Amino acid sequence: MAEYYDTEKIAALISASSEIMLVGHTNPDGDSVGSLIAMGCFLEDMGKRVMRVVPNELPRPLKSVKGKVKIYEFVSSEAYVRERARGCDLVICMDFNDISSRIGALSEVVDGCECPRILIDHHLNPSLSDFSAALSDTSASSTCYLVYKLITGMAGAESITPRMASAIYLGMATDTGKFSYGALTPDLFRAVAVLVERGADIMAVDMAVFNSQSEGRMRLVGFALSEKMVVLHGRRAAYITLTVGELNRFGHKSGDTEGLVNMPMQIEGIDTSALFLETGEGIKISLRSRGADGLDVNTFARTYFTGGGHRNAAGAKSFVSMDETVSRFIEGLRIEDEKRRG
Ligand code: 5GP
Ligand code: MN
Repeated sequence: MAEYYDTEKIAALISASSEIMLVGHTNPDGDSVGSLIAMGCFLEDMGKRVMRVVPNELPRPLKSVKGKVKIYEFVSSEAYVRERARGCDLVICMDFNDISSRIGALSEVVDGCECPRILIDHHLNPSLSDFSAALSDTSASSTCYLVYKLITGMAGAESITPRMASAIYLGMATDTGKFSYGALTPDLFRAVAVLVERGADIMAVDMAVFNSQSEGRMRLVGFALSEKMVVLHGRRAAYITLTVGELNRFGHKSGDTEGLVNMPMQIEGIDTSALFLETGEGIKISLRSRGADGLDVNTFARTYFTGGGHRNAAGAKSFVSMDETVSRFIEGLRIEDEKRRG
């Protein structure tokens, strides 16, 4: 596991700056949004001016959880973001490893900023040469956990406000499947205890994120599991495909398929899962596996598609047909199975 803890340099860069742009990844999730909220509030409390930006639309549950905190969606606020980015003297990229592939058209804006850049992230293969300093630890269960380490290291737990505590908890909870997988270290649970002391409202986060689904999402999940899931018992794998037509039938909104890819792994004997979503720009692939012995889906995504992520959770894009994409996946599973059997 690679670790880069340039914390002193990060503190110095923050101290020397006044206008900071915080950038999250495409299809922002709880960890991305939680890190933007918490880090932004911390910087604002230090007297900095902060602009939080994500490339595309926030899913509905995350919109509600962020409350009054402003997070600009580049797709709908491009002119404003471009204008303010010109005045930034520091950019902090959070919860993604690569500017060129993980933030869409926002990469051009980030590339255009001539100020220093910091990376705070836990994904494999970070493109470190693009950054002046990094807090990058691929063994961390969430970026929010790294934000917690950074903030407490720089200013102590006392600097964590209830809003920051809830936001950090949000990322920790979503990226670990509510503390059920990932790097569940004793220190993670100690951090959660401190967050509760600092006013994290766990029930409110849970309600907003996990119990505020739309009826359409619920029915889409039911349809996907009942009608579209294919179980490959011989490979201990399952996959789901969803076309644009099917997504539209259920009034699909950004974030509605969040977590769907994990569900087939609840079947006994299934430890690899894939979700293939048709979009206007090719097929979005999500891959999941279980544990250190499970399929390395980061490598799988890189080998058979264009993508990456973590060992047990990765994603990719495919620009061939759905049938061809699924065939490539099944063939990949066969090849990897043979390799593992030796
Ligand atoms: P998800 O399946 O939830 O979209 O993504 C799972 C993980 O894979 C995330 O950590 C995400 O950063 C990574 N990931 C998703 N899509 C891509 C992609 O197209 N390229 C790369 N490099 N990583 C991705
Ligand atoms: Mn994350």
